Amino acid sequence: MPSNEVKVPDIGDFKSVEVIEVLVKPGDTVAKEQSLITLESDKATMEIPSPGAGTVQSIKVKVGDKVAQGSPILVLDAATAEAPRKEEKLNQEIQPAKSGEYDCDVVVIGAGPGGYSAAFRAADLGLRTVLVERYPVLGGVCLNVGCIPSKALLHTASVIDAARGLADHGISFGEPKLDLAKLRAFKDKVVGKLTGGLAAMAKMRKVTVMTGVATFNSSHELVIEGKDKKTLRFANAIIAVGSQAAKLRLDGNELPSDPRIVDSTGALELKAVPKKMLIIGGGIIGLEMGTVYSTLGTRLDVVEMMDGLMLGADRDLVAVWQKMNAKRFDNVMLKTKTTKVEAAKEGLRVSFEEKPTQIYDAILVSVGRVPSGRNVGADKAGVAVDAKGFISVDSQMRTNVPNIYAIGDVAGNPMLAHKAVHEGHVAAEAAAGQKSHFDARVIPSVAYTDPEIAWVGVTEDEAKKAGTAIGVAKFPWSASGRAIANARDEGFTKLVFDTETHRVVGAAIVGTGAGDLISEMALAVEMGADATDIGKTIHPHPTTSESVGMAAELFEGVCTDMPPVRKK
Ligand SMILES: Cc1cc2nc3c(=O)[nH]c(=O)nc-3n(C[C@H](O)[C@H](O)[C@H](O)COP(=O)(O)OP(=O)(O)OC[C@H]3O[C@@H](n4cnc5c(N)ncnc54)[C@H](O)[C@@H]3O)c2cc1C
Repeated sequence: MPSNEVKVPDIGDFKSVEVIEVLVKPGDTVAKEQSLITLESDKATMEIPSPGAGTVQSIKVKVGDKVAQGSPILVLDAATAEAPRKEEKLNQEIQPAKSGEYDCDVVVIGAGPGGYSAAFRAADLGLRTVLVERYPVLGGVCLNVGCIPSKALLHTASVIDAARGLADHGISFGEPKLDLAKLRAFKDKVVGKLTGGLAAMAKMRKVTVMTGVATFNSSHELVIEGKDKKTLRFANAIIAVGSQAAKLRLDGNELPSDPRIVDSTGALELKAVPKKMLIIGGGIIGLEMGTVYSTLGTRLDVVEMMDGLMLGADRDLVAVWQKMNAKRFDNVMLKTKTTKVEAAKEGLRVSFEEKPTQIYDAILVSVGRVPSGRNVGADKAGVAVDAKGFISVDSQMRTNVPNIYAIGDVAGNPMLAHKAVHEGHVAAEAAAGQKSHFDARVIPSVAYTDPEIAWVGVTEDEAKKAGTAIGVAKFPWSASGRAIANARDEGFTKLVFDTETHRVVGAAIVGTGAGDLISEMALAVEMGADATDIGKTIHPHPTTSESVGMAAELFEGVCTDMPPVRKK
């Protein structure tokens, strides 16, 4: 059983670098390229990968040791070192199919953010790529009836709200005049610009776009039913069929079919501004749409079965939003079950458990999204779809059928466009034979409400519930020059640290532009930055981004923008 001493490889100009983490222990089985230890110099943090697979026999370093090129790290029992990792084995077995016996190297089903990104990446890698979409316009939910149109309307709403707020600064414009047709046209123009851009980019890349509903005939053949029926033989397929709005059933019955009852797609059509609207479901999508309607003049009620709105975000963030937005709502009904909806001429009569019946002009049903795994005849290809409609994948986005991948909403939570895009790239690269894996440490979440709420990585509430030791630093925007100048100092920036290493493991921000600010923290978590790295990074003044650096300084006890910490 040969044992290999694993030594620090060439790490550049560094002569004496501190070991800040030992990531394995004796007895652990490690894969080739798996990180063994983390080193930190004054310039960079680096993880040292294992040169081969095997079992750790003994460790030669501890946290705090100084090492250089050639210093022993550990002894690896190389007997198993020859055994390839599961993924490597897969890569060896599955040669990227590129043969002329198929009509294309890759077919991507669904042209949402996941699907078009996968198709474009595949084409850029030289694969003959076909993109099939059931609608004539590319872009999927995100561009057509999701992220983009909702943000176009939220932008308009925020400008109206900001203009109203100027009355406190001595500037009044009077009440806005609403031209709904023009507002709809603006939103449609935004969508058209982006979806048109996608069609042009598909052409530039020589991606063949086919319009029609695709269903599998086998693991190498699809039927595409559009204007006519076609079959397509493919070497690899990427399923990117996304998700759809969940339907609400009360007592096993569907809600009445009535134009006044809409889901997010119906709400985005902006056919009218109702006087009184009920949002069923207190998640992000419902509250974003509620913000738009409320600013345009609708009074809101929200009903939610759980005990809070926007679950997933820390409660202290949501509390800030709730305080600012209380004026939009007549009733916030938590832990409340909707029991009946009747469509009457005078309005939609809604009954709740233990709450009085109410009449509404409109109802927005926003009770989550259902993955569309059952839309594509996956069983005929042998692809396993779970009871909810999700398709399980490995870290290369490969399903249980080796030449078929799944990405985006259909491949699991969180259902977010930026996750879909990254997964799409991994699947395309894997289909091209590359050893790409989806190994993101964190995926940021954002509620584009006003104020915005954004978070990434470990949340404080989650860590407390799990009993994980964390350190938290919270910088209030009431101490941020820029937030005060913007007359929007209600927010705060919170960083969550590992108490031992002082590395940032999560962050959460509530305030205007929080969705943009969180990116820095996603990068910090990915790069393993610690409080000193963040605090000593010079942030421009005056910006709300400074609050990130200051929160890190607070954690280290060196922040001069807050009152001094009392010595115990
Ligand atoms: C109102 C709203 C707001 C949102 N806002 C945000 C946001 O701000 N940020 C964010 O990250 N996410 C947001 N989301 C979620 C985001 O839209 C999704 O996560 C994202 O679109 C998922 O991308 P996808 O590629 O997996 O699938 P989708 O975008 O759902 O695209 C799937 C495509 O597949 C097509 N398709 C399905 N079945 C077939 C078939 N059999 N044959 C051919 N084509 C088929 C569909 O027509 C669709 O075009 C929002 C969603 C909604 C509804």
